[in-house]
Amino acid sequence: MPDAATSSSLDLTGRVARNVAAVRSRIDAAARAAGREPSDVRLLVATKTQPAEAVRAVVEAGVDLVGENRVQELVAKAPEVADLVAAGRVEVHMIGHLQRNKVNQVLATASCVEGVDSLALAEALSARCARDDRTLDVMVQVNVSGEASKSGVLPDDAARLAHDVASLPGLRLTGLMTIGANSPDKNVVRAGFARLREVRDAVVGSGAPGTSTARELSMGMSGDLEVAIAEGATIVRVGTAVFGPRPTPPQTAR
Ligand SMILES: *Cc1c(COP(=O)(O)O)cnc(C)c1O
Repeated sequence: MPDAATSSSLDLTGRVARNVAAVRSRIDAAARAAGREPSDVRLLVATKTQPAEAVRAVVEAGVDLVGENRVQELVAKAPEVADLVAAGRVEVHMIGHLQRNKVNQVLATASCVEGVDSLALAEALSARCARDDRTLDVMVQVNVSGEASKSGVLPDDAARLAHDVASLPGLRLTGLMTIGANSPDKNVVRAGFARLREVRDAVVGSGAPGTSTARELSMGMSGDLEVAIAEGATIVRVGTAVFGPRPTPPQTAR
């Protein structure tokens, strides 16, 4: 390997390790401030737009959970991280919007689809899992802010969808996911996270088939993870605080 590439990958590994440690400290402090155990909050690193070597650097830094947004990226990086997945060193969650016709591509790599926002998508995942005789973890995505740009079912419809999803064969409902409100007002952001927790409590408390496992709250990102942890987040999804700001995506599809 050329020297330049070696030293730049060392840079990447060191920078990522430092940033992961800083994020982990923020998580631990927020958990303690909320009277919670730091170990009850898992860090998922969102690796969208990052190359496979960045995923490897994240795993080297001790992270055991990464998330991809786009099927195309998940599939492109899959062969390069397959050894880490096979060795059980990292788990990959699909955290972006998933179209039904792309289900097969995701199931080869992802252990959990966090963005289930319709019964039709859940049924497509269930059918595929039944055919493969496997179980897939899924989370229902809820649009707590009601912002039109965001995927997810509205809070009032979330418990119903969660119950329907939980009853499907081949799927294990592990919890709920949301993207917080895009608001400078912390109270607005916090109210959204609290709403997700209330929906989770109602789903788990219902006693409906398949709902007892739905305990995870995947909520909080680089800018609002403390608020999310205060409201009960069990998974925070962090990109920018580990990798720096993302370039704005190109407008033309490849
Ligand atoms: C990119 C992304 C994140 C991470 O966001 P940052 O603000 O970069 O930390 C979390 N969740 C989802 C669904 C994302 O697409």
